[in-house]
Amino acid sequence: MAERIVSLIYDKIAFIGLGLIAGSMAWATKRAGAATTISGYARSEATRETTRRLGFCDVVTDTAAEAVADADLVVLAVPVGAMGAVMAEIKGALKPGATVIDVGSVKQAVFDEVTPHVPDNVHFVGTHPMAGTEHSGPEAGFAELYDNRWTLIVTPEGADAGVVDKVEQYWAALGAMTDQMDVQHHDRVCAVVSHIPHLIAYTMVGVADDLRRVTDSEVIKFSAAGFRDFTRIAASDPTMWRDVFLTNKDATLEILGRFTEELFALQRAIRTGDGDHLFDYFTRTRAIRRGIIEAGQDTDAPDFGRGAAR
Ligand code: NAP
Repeated sequence: MAERIVSLIYDKIAFIGLGLIAGSMAWATKRAGAATTISGYARSEATRETTRRLGFCDVVTDTAAEAVADADLVVLAVPVGAMGAVMAEIKGALKPGATVIDVGSVKQAVFDEVTPHVPDNVHFVGTHPMAGTEHSGPEAGFAELYDNRWTLIVTPEGADAGVVDKVEQYWAALGAMTDQMDVQHHDRVCAVVSHIPHLIAYTMVGVADDLRRVTDSEVIKFSAAGFRDFTRIAASDPTMWRDVFLTNKDATLEILGRFTEELFALQRAIRTGDGDHLFDYFTRTRAIRRGIIEAGQDTDAPDFGRGAAR
């Protein structure tokens, strides 16, 4: 596990959006003692009420402006398509010298929408935790989500090095490892490791659902490990993933094009009985799985880690 710094990093931290990501950050902030006060705001009264009951925020306010008042760090934890509107809403209430970070899964679109609203005396840094589950909402959050997971730090041009350093220290306190990346590289890497795999899972489960109508309930009754893993990924939040594909259009379409070419090559190998092609391909991909386990990013447990999944 990453070494955790157990000490105060920001006096007051405000979360705008109180779902899986913010809830987990707030629990981990408390675990690390990284803030004196945690405030939070979500647009619906139901989410605010649930958050008050759960207790991961010290104060839950009825407006975003109240939540960010006097905050040293403000975390934007709403869907990517809502980041710009939220920043526009809070900009007049931010403390001079405050740092604002987002946790969105896409960075170019967030930078385009958010940076025009960032006041001159406020710092903005993009961050993206490479951790999540298929669950959403405040009840889905848990303190260990970021332990030993990567958080990508994406800095706008001219960012203050001291501010960025403190943001990295904060993520380290939450248990994460950090790495810096430029904005285009981030969106391309995430298209490969996260966005397209989700699209494929959504498609596979959609196809199986169509087949279910043909084969009655056999798809569910006999669902084997491969399909069950797809269903877990395809249960991810529809709003979040709609926004990811609408805002990371170029990178996802480029990687999808490459994926389709490879799929056609495999289709041809099956049709022509080219077993060597299939064997070589599967041997190469198996090595990647071993690499992920060796890097500590997944378990080798025979249940594919589902037993530990939340
Ligand atoms: P979540 O559990 O669904 O929570 C989303 C929060 O945003 C809720 O508090 C919701 O408010 C609020 N919200 C939704 N639409 C909004 C809008 N149009 N305007 C203002 N607030 C809105 O989502 P999450 O999983 O925490 O994701 C938050 C961010 O983290 C997203 O940008 C996502 O791309 C990123 N991210 C997610 C994952 C993951 O695996 N889930 C991983 C890395 C990064 P109400 O509850 O009041 O509706």
